[in-house]
Amino acid sequence: MQKKRVILNQEGIILVTATSVVEGKIMKEGNDQKEIFNPSHLEQTVGKLSFSPKEVIGEAEKAAHAAQKEWAVKTGQQKSQILYKIADEITDHAEEIAALASKEMGKPITEMKGEVQRAVQLFKYYAAEGVRPDGDTIPSSAPDVLQYAKRVPLGVVGVITPWNFPVAIPVWKIAPAIICGNAVIWKPAENSTLTAFKMMEIFKKAELPDGLVNLVIGKGREVGQQLMDKAAINGLSFTGSTEVGSKVAETCASRNIKFQTEMGGKNSAIVLKDADVEKTASVLLSGALRSAGQKCTATSRIIVEKEAMEDLKEALRAEMANIHMAPADDTKAYLGPVASQEQYDKVSDYRRMAKKDGKVVAEGDQWNEEGYYISPLIVEDIDTNHALWKEEVFGPIIVLMPAQDVKEAVAMCNDTVFGLSASVFTNNLSEAHYFLDYTKAGMVRVNQETAGVEYQSPFGGMKASSSHTREQGQAALDFYSETKTYAINYAWGQ
Ligand code: NAD
Repeated sequence: MQKKRVILNQEGIILVTATSVVEGKIMKEGNDQKEIFNPSHLEQTVGKLSFSPKEVIGEAEKAAHAAQKEWAVKTGQQKSQILYKIADEITDHAEEIAALASKEMGKPITEMKGEVQRAVQLFKYYAAEGVRPDGDTIPSSAPDVLQYAKRVPLGVVGVITPWNFPVAIPVWKIAPAIICGNAVIWKPAENSTLTAFKMMEIFKKAELPDGLVNLVIGKGREVGQQLMDKAAINGLSFTGSTEVGSKVAETCASRNIKFQTEMGGKNSAIVLKDADVEKTASVLLSGALRSAGQKCTATSRIIVEKEAMEDLKEALRAEMANIHMAPADDTKAYLGPVASQEQYDKVSDYRRMAKKDGKVVAEGDQWNEEGYYISPLIVEDIDTNHALWKEEVFGPIIVLMPAQDVKEAVAMCNDTVFGLSASVFTNNLSEAHYFLDYTKAGMVRVNQETAGVEYQSPFGGMKASSSHTREQGQAALDFYSETKTYAINYAWGQ
């Protein structure tokens, strides 16, 4: 990066000024600027964004295509070394990255540090792919013919990311994209842009070639839209809301661009009558309330076999009393604020609705300083036609619902347009199996929270949660490459 632009705010905190980074160069700051305030302490400014006009996409496109040509001919080993270096640079700057991201979007610092470690693991995992097999030999029906199929890069891929995992989601797209030989144009969400800019510094430090990853900073409806509507890209990976993701799918299909969309969720955890309710309550709340419920895999419904209901309610109340809400920079914060004014308004509306239309089971801590704090809430007596049962809340609000038995519980769990993640708590093997086989979700878990799927496993949803590809693990390699079939008659001319 040319020069680091940093200034201090009144509290002496370093402010980051983020602009687009194309071909390794920081773009000129434009007139369209936005200040970013710390959601935990609204009096603090964290940095300033300078949005690029949509023309930035044209420049990023040129840089990416040029860089991709040179990158694609490097050996797997050479690519691999750069990814290992990125992992090392992230490790060396882990504290800074986590602190900035936590100030930018309000995730508690302890959780954010874990997310940064996940980015390190992801870069190492995909670095190793540089020297792993990239295809198969296939017996030919003709003599003296060697036939094989191997992965080849797509070319230039667009990556559009949300704010809720400001480091891990971009990394689980960018790392497999580049090890497969692609270049990237990355459009982060407006309120995770400072962190994205920091990640570009890391890539530069690790000597990732200029132009291989280009950061375009702008508004979704302008720069994001231009990327999907017009850019000369060969693939597009999107994570975000179902509303925007559906447009991405439609546009990419009409342009014949390979795409993946990972979108919203309405995730249930089922508690069966034999479950140890105390142990279960603690895992349930972790799945629902960490990151203030702003995970696509967060638990938002708890469906309980009726015999266990009263004991579970007691256990949830006891557990809720231990949950500490605090600013994201407090290492003891179990949950901090939600990420933005928009999130605060939306989740507060759901909370008001929950208190008006439901019966409160348990309510959590409230933090009274100026920030986007929303106290966690569990309610029951909600109708299955109610918005709280049907819609993704993306906040610390849980609906509790009784079920007669495992069959009814699974039917309730499937009563949604979404199909991302679900879990069951039981020691009953056959009921656990019933749940695993009949739940329509991309990730199904027994005696574990709905969130927290590991990076080496396929990640993604069914139904309206996804366009049915998978991210992470080996599945990501399938998305960021296409298969070419080779056949060589090696006896020719003999
Ligand atoms: P969002 O859809 O508003 O934004 C996501 C990204 O799309 C941002 O970068 C945004 O700038 C961009 N964008 C917005 N409008 C666009 C347009 N017209 N054209 C192109 N790009 C556009 O989502 P969000 O609020 O950032 O994230 C929250 C949502 O993400 C939730 O619904 C959550 O469930 C989902 N999510 C899903 C997963 C998953 O893997 N399934 C993971 C994390 C978050």
